[in-house]
Amino acid sequence: MKVFVVNCGSSSIKYQLFDMADESVLAKGLLERLGTSSALLRHSGNGKGREPVECERAVQAADHTAGLKLILDVLVDPRSGVLESIDQIDGVGHRVVHGGEGVTRSSRIDGELLKVIEANCDLAPLHNPANLAGIRAAMGAVPRAVHAAVFDTAFLATLPPHAYRYAVPNAWYAQHHVRRYGFHGTSHRYVTLTAAGLLGKPADQVHLITVHLGNGCSMTAVAGGKAVDHSMGMTPLEGLVMGTRSGDIDPAIVFQMHAAGLAVQEIDRVLNKESGLLGLSELSNDMRDLLRAVEVGDRKAALAVDVFVYRIAKYIGAYYTILPGLDAVVLTGGIGENSPPIRHRICRWLTPLGAVADEARNNQVVGGRAGPITAERSALAVWVVPTNEELMIARDTAAIVFGRGT
Ligand code: AMP
Repeated sequence: MKVFVVNCGSSSIKYQLFDMADESVLAKGLLERLGTSSALLRHSGNGKGREPVECERAVQAADHTAGLKLILDVLVDPRSGVLESIDQIDGVGHRVVHGGEGVTRSSRIDGELLKVIEANCDLAPLHNPANLAGIRAAMGAVPRAVHAAVFDTAFLATLPPHAYRYAVPNAWYAQHHVRRYGFHGTSHRYVTLTAAGLLGKPADQVHLITVHLGNGCSMTAVAGGKAVDHSMGMTPLEGLVMGTRSGDIDPAIVFQMHAAGLAVQEIDRVLNKESGLLGLSELSNDMRDLLRAVEVGDRKAALAVDVFVYRIAKYIGAYYTILPGLDAVVLTGGIGENSPPIRHRICRWLTPLGAVADEARNNQVVGGRAGPITAERSALAVWVVPTNEELMIARDTAAIVFGRGT
């Protein structure tokens, strides 16, 4: 079975084509700057049975429909493509950011589900409209396939009211849907299932704290395989310190900065795009740059790293208290998977919970490897488990194609 995974942004299409027989990636790529004169397609195909291909080329793609047509043409190219025909695609899995309160699982896309995605455009104005445009374009271009939507919010739909409600007037919730939804759910679900397997526990019995540390950062408390709390909120701005997002701040800071002369849109932009690691370091939103700067004595970079790690430790402490037990803290995302120095700093803060770091293990578990980074005798296990949201979407889509549901 072939599954095509599509992740549409407002000006981009990210894709991977899977052969679900062995879950191998037949081709993947990114079409960027859609709708501009400098649209660019980066594509690689593994050449199963044909020539392997790596290419980067300027293209003409006015919208998602044109962009998808272009990508599909590359997939069936007689010389370098990986498919004989588009009809070989059995399922198309779409990443959708916001399913609102009602959506708890990945689902086959029909008229009703399209309405749900549309109804949640207000809650994710930058993402859901682009996701919808991609779905409509793909349904037109690959009409024979089953189309499935995999929602970022779905894994977090099990949060209990005491975790998802804010202490604001009830009317804000009833009339304006003000509550915690959470994001990165597909990543948290993938690492939960993978970690359960690695720890030898049934997925519905595992207790974890999953920590996604990429350019965006979030944490989920998982009890019995279900999400019971999560650090991102009504929007992805809440919670951990991120590359350019502030994470938690006193909401009154917004009023103070407005009184100081900043327009609301400006404050929104600063908190989302100029804060976090970038705001504190005044250097970069990339952890690699900051760690290099710390080595040569940059104090702002050192403070940015300290605030980043401290916030993670504080959340782990809070989630430790609310879980019925803890099998492991699981680190993932670009930083979690690749940065021994940051992982070492996190483990140091977790000493009171019984974590004993193992330097050799920490240095070995990089480059896509999974494994523990704490010592055998550590009372608290800290693991690294690489995430793979595309594979999670492909697996859900395959299950829906088979009619099994997710
Ligand atoms: P992601 O959003 O999961 O792709 O993660 C991207 C982020 O991971 C980058 O912005 C870097 O901050 C971080 N990252 C990737 N590789 C490393 C590394 N070797 N050391 C530290 N941070 C890294």
